[in-house]
Amino acid sequence: MPNYQTTIGLEVHMQINTKSKVFCECSTQFGAEPNANTCVICTSQPGAIPILNRKAVEAVIKTGLALNFTINKQCTFARKQYFYPDIPKDYQITQSEPPLCSRGQLTINFDGKEKAVNITRIHLEEDAGKLIHEIGGRKLDYSLLDLNRASVGLMELVTEPEITSADEAIAFLNELRDIVRYLGASECSMEEGKMRADVNVSVRPEGQSELGTRVEIKNMNSLSGIHAAITYEAQRQKEVLASGGKLVQETRLWDDEDGITKSMRSKEGALDYRYFPEPDLVPFDLSDDFIENLRKELPELPKAKKARFIKEYGLSEYDASYLTSSRQIADYYEEALNFSKDKKAAAKPIANWISTELSGKLNLENKDIAQSPVSSENIAKLVSMILDGSISGKIAKIVFEDMFAKSKDPQSIVKEKGLVQISDENALGKICDEAIKESASAVAEYKAGKERAIGSIVGLVMKKSKGQANPQLVNKILIEKLK
Ligand code: ADP
Ligand code: ZN
Ligand code: MG
Repeated sequence: MPNYQTTIGLEVHMQINTKSKVFCECSTQFGAEPNANTCVICTSQPGAIPILNRKAVEAVIKTGLALNFTINKQCTFARKQYFYPDIPKDYQITQSEPPLCSRGQLTINFDGKEKAVNITRIHLEEDAGKLIHEIGGRKLDYSLLDLNRASVGLMELVTEPEITSADEAIAFLNELRDIVRYLGASECSMEEGKMRADVNVSVRPEGQSELGTRVEIKNMNSLSGIHAAITYEAQRQKEVLASGGKLVQETRLWDDEDGITKSMRSKEGALDYRYFPEPDLVPFDLSDDFIENLRKELPELPKAKKARFIKEYGLSEYDASYLTSSRQIADYYEEALNFSKDKKAAAKPIANWISTELSGKLNLENKDIAQSPVSSENIAKLVSMILDGSISGKIAKIVFEDMFAKSKDPQSIVKEKGLVQISDENALGKICDEAIKESASAVAEYKAGKERAIGSIVGLVMKKSKGQANPQLVNKILIEKLK
């Protein structure tokens, strides 16, 4: 087979994170009773007038600013007309020209290199409702309509055809999701349908400058599905071309069970949506102040934060990546540092406790950091107790179990359980004597010059003291005694 290059362009829909819908006051709450969140506007009653949600406009513009877009001050809406039963008014309110944001860019880290992907546009539109064809696994011979999602705000982002592999597409979506979540513009949870993508794929013989015929795979809602669909579709197209066939521009659907794409409709007579200006939403201009104030509100973005954590706190790449994987985790970490007496000494151990013990336990219970039973203040206290020698690292793990299970602070757990580290030389001396008596062979080895043999005697002292002995002190006492 000759060599082919794959080209991918993404159309990403993200549900805007506002309390109310984009053109009415109904709640956007996920999982409400069917049709509980509806009113005359989002059920498309004749004569109902849409009212634009300012917060939704702000979310789109913030996303545009974070991705270096040109913001178009002119805010206009259009009707995109088609019949589908989940849009009772038979048109969708969207933006045609201009969109709120034009020509942006996202730089992704891929394969150890950086790559800038150009993004054509981001526009604001409303979501459709949902048709239900089965209940509890039972197929219905009729369809039900739930309009809770109708008129929820969406931003649609369209990339240029510049992505060249399934892995790169996933890297793009991951980085986009991180940024949009940091902005608070969308939760981007694919499981809840809050991020969905149409994936356009084409292939062309290596060296050919014009792009091949594109196939659009609609409504993808998982990263693993997107990866599999691109891989499958690119291979299918290569085989068609290699065997002398021709591709048609069409829309296909991904069949997750069979792992294949299936033709849905040919795009040759492209749908004419008869866009026209939405008469119920008059065009208006955004002021420079409005846009500049949003720019000032932009938070530190994940990449910048990660670089700062590495530089300012001396963290490893791994810890910095984990801690900046969400804004909540990063804030928790910095809060904990602010509770620490010695920030510098605490920076690494706190990072460690969060990225290993705490994240492990949270994962097991399917909780995120906002639901952590251990507060940032308490994790800071725990680390200071280790740093000032009042508990050993081993005891700290026991204390942490209780902190997590009971939401308690470490000092009271240590007091209640009598876990304070033993640093009393007399008390430790007695235990050391016992341990020496019981470790004849280690003592002999040590005396014969094998210094490492002392380790097993220290271990025995730790065991006898139930982990409470101060290991540095035990080491010192043993060396003296063995002299
Ligand atoms: P439509 O609504 O018809 O799908 P859009 O302009 O909204 O059109 O989206 C087109 C998408 O297809 C863009 O993401 C673009 O990058 C991508 N695309 C265009 N041509 C190709 C091609 N030859 N191969 C792969 N992707 C393409
Ligand atoms: Zn409504
Ligand atoms: Mg499309």
